[in-house]
Amino acid sequence: MLIVQKYGGTSVADIERIKKVAERVVNTARNGNRVVVVVSAMAGETDKLIELAQQVSSNPDEREMDLLLSTGERITSALTAMAIQELGHKAIALTGRQVGIITDTVHTKAKIARISGDKAKRALDEGYIVVVAGFQGITEDEGDVTTLGRGGSDLTAVAIASALDADLCEIYTDVEGVYTTDPNIVPEARKLERISYEEMLELASLGAKVLQTRSVEFAMKYNVPLVVRSSFVDAPGTLVVKEDSNMEQVLVSGVAYDKNQAKVTILGVPDRPGIAGHLFKTIADASIVVDMIVQNISSDGKSTDISFTIPKTDLPKARPLTDEIVNGLGAKGVSIDENIAKVSIVGVGMKTHSGVAAKMFQTLADQGINIKMISTSEIKVSCVIDSKYTELAVRVLHDAFDLASPSQ
Ligand code: ADP
Ligand code: ASP
Ligand code: MG
Repeated sequence: MLIVQKYGGTSVADIERIKKVAERVVNTARNGNRVVVVVSAMAGETDKLIELAQQVSSNPDEREMDLLLSTGERITSALTAMAIQELGHKAIALTGRQVGIITDTVHTKAKIARISGDKAKRALDEGYIVVVAGFQGITEDEGDVTTLGRGGSDLTAVAIASALDADLCEIYTDVEGVYTTDPNIVPEARKLERISYEEMLELASLGAKVLQTRSVEFAMKYNVPLVVRSSFVDAPGTLVVKEDSNMEQVLVSGVAYDKNQAKVTILGVPDRPGIAGHLFKTIADASIVVDMIVQNISSDGKSTDISFTIPKTDLPKARPLTDEIVNGLGAKGVSIDENIAKVSIVGVGMKTHSGVAAKMFQTLADQGINIKMISTSEIKVSCVIDSKYTELAVRVLHDAFDLASPSQ
């Protein structure tokens, strides 16, 4: 079998753990498999690099940022390859460039255009374990280093698994699989044996960082067999698979939360056609992804407030744009709230049931938690709340929808 194994930051947090990873990898190879390993930076390393950049500049250039951030993964790839060699197995460490990951030019959240993988294939044929530095690629024209967005090593692993037509892509992390909610917040959370790509995609995009959203999208599109499991204990993990008729169509399958969004409100916007179009085109042209949008009713028929959420990391880029928009439109001003969180419930069963959203709102109200924004789709309901209530909200929702018990 050809297996891609990805190890996250906590799994390569120090030298002892890197040696443990090397042992697992070598065992997999000695059991007759060809192995590609994708590694993240050591836990906390990427954050440290970001802090360094912020000490130098309040709005660091994203091209240089990517060059800086890509170094974390290079360190672990080299160390992991050395640890494998030390165990007596051939290993080669490759950067994103060397493995042929070509991306677009959107620095800090580049999309993969293609992967050549030739060097990796040759090395595998020659009996090497290939260790790839996750989270990075290069642009086609300039050969500039890009990164794939936070958590992007998951995407590296899935994309390489697809490019090399691997039999399995294993994501090794610090929890035993995908749970009904973050097990670090709700100890009663239940590990799922299997989850559909669709539900996983929804959970991930709503903040369950156990898998990066784009990695799930990619796995779904190219049918990459995916399993999430622990690098610390030997347990079966969670299979991420195509939805099939045997899967229970549970009402609510998980609770997710996201503390990385900020709410931007443009105050006193003239109430006439074309304004929202202009506002959101300006934001989109800067490659900022807007999530929720609320336009309040105009009480005087002349002006209104428009609120929307964007990733906190995009605030430095968004601030000058919103100032420009306010001046251009003759709006009254901008207010930014960084102390928000989005809590969401997800489940395919919602398609055919009513009352789920009402139950969510009531559960939050019972705790005195005010809802600032709401959005719904066929299979999810999200509420923006004050971030200080995040953990409480996740716990009471997990309880209200009885997610700890397998029979719900
Ligand atoms: P890695 O460094 O291995 O990539 P991450 O920190 O990115 O690991 O993702 C694993 C974390 O995801 C867990 O420690 C857990 O706190 C969090 N998490 C959030 N939601 C879930 C969920 N539904 N199931 C499992 N883990 C979750
Ligand atoms: N090191 C990167 C991050 O912290 C990528 C990853 O860990 O997947 O986001
Ligand atoms: Mg991760």
